[in-house]
Amino acid sequence: MVAQILDGRKISVSVLESVKQRVEGLQESGIHPTLCFVTIGESEPALMYVSRLEKLAARVGISVCRRSLPFDVSLDDLDSEVASLNAADYVDGILVQMPLPPHLTSVDLSIIIDPRKDVDGLTVHNAGKLYLGMSGQVPSTAVAMTHILHVSGIEPAGKHAVVVGRSKVVGHPVAELLLRCDATVTVAHRATRDLGAVTRGADILMVGAGEPHLITLDMVKPGVVIVDAGINPTESGVVGDVDFEACREVASAITPVPGGVGPVTNAIVLRNLVDSAEQRFG
Ligand code: NAD
Repeated sequence: MVAQILDGRKISVSVLESVKQRVEGLQESGIHPTLCFVTIGESEPALMYVSRLEKLAARVGISVCRRSLPFDVSLDDLDSEVASLNAADYVDGILVQMPLPPHLTSVDLSIIIDPRKDVDGLTVHNAGKLYLGMSGQVPSTAVAMTHILHVSGIEPAGKHAVVVGRSKVVGHPVAELLLRCDATVTVAHRATRDLGAVTRGADILMVGAGEPHLITLDMVKPGVVIVDAGINPTESGVVGDVDFEACREVASAITPVPGGVGPVTNAIVLRNLVDSAEQRFG
């Protein structure tokens, strides 16, 4: 069996098209959705990510602004910068560059961003809504991973979904979204014993571990659907957490890296921003 390639670039085009239409609708009512990036330090990959999203936002008519803070910014200074964006009426969404420097934690962000402007679902309020099954902002990568299944006609209900990774932005929320879709969900993580024994039981395998080619051919069963969020820069380029070339020979469907979850995540961030703008202005 050679897998169907789940093409994230193609999927992102249709998400962006609908975002553009919704932005035009808002603009007709005099509302100009605006996303503000907060960058910390001069990390080249992070700044490249921000400028890529800025270009994408411009393509769909979303305005952007950027606040640049030094790498050693104190929690108090970050707090007051975010507080000024929380209070700024023209700002619909706030995206703080990740990963944060070691002296700051995502817990800090989860309590200082206004939940109405929390386009990446990081706040206590939005995380609580996710786990209570209420609608709210959900981390964009997790939404992207389940969106890929949805638009590809892959139905999680009744299937065994294995999620590798339990971070707040990828594994944990994706497991929650799969439960909502009636999948039977197993979450594996760094302390899981015999990871292969767990992943071989997966009908759907969702991976966000941050380890290049962690998932090898012997760890998957024929016919599995694989969605790989991993982004790992290596000497031979960016690779995922899954050995794509080997696993595509047995999977029924698989996302490539690059060109899989990444582009869909970017489009979902902008969709979340439009959700925020629409909700703020009723
Ligand atoms: P993280 O370090 O916060 O979490 C990694 C998780 O994977 C942890 O729960 C850890 O227990 C688990 N893990 C790590 N090694 C493991 C192993 N050997 N066996 C089993 N579990 C293991 O990372 P993160 O922020 O969740 O990111 C994960 C990956 O997803 C990274 O490659 C990151 O670059 C990528 N990512 C991609 C997007 C996107 O838009 N495509 C967005 C965010 C993160």
